[in-house]
Amino acid sequence: MDKEEVTLRKPVVCHHCGHKEFFKSDTRVQSFQDIVNGKVVWQQIRRQRYRCKQCQLKVWDTVENMDTYRRKTVRLLAYLNGEKQ
Ligand SMILES: [Zn+2]
Repeated sequence: MDKEEVTLRKPVVCHHCGHKEFFKSDTRVQSFQDIVNGKVVWQQIRRQRYRCKQCQLKVWDTVENMDTYRRKTVRLLAYLNGEKQ
């Protein structure tokens, strides 16, 4: 439990047109919070954006084990929820 568990996945299918092939587009570094050995720490992850080959829609990669809206890992959220009880 000392390594962050966040995994990036390439989009499988375009939500707009259903096409399954993408070009790589720009990247952006995103900060998020994780819990490592009982301490809340900030981590950084490089997100990759893709562009649909058919309709040109831009779509970010999918991040597993992270709540991208709150920018916290799933295990940190579980920890925070447990603390409140
Ligand atoms: Zn598309």
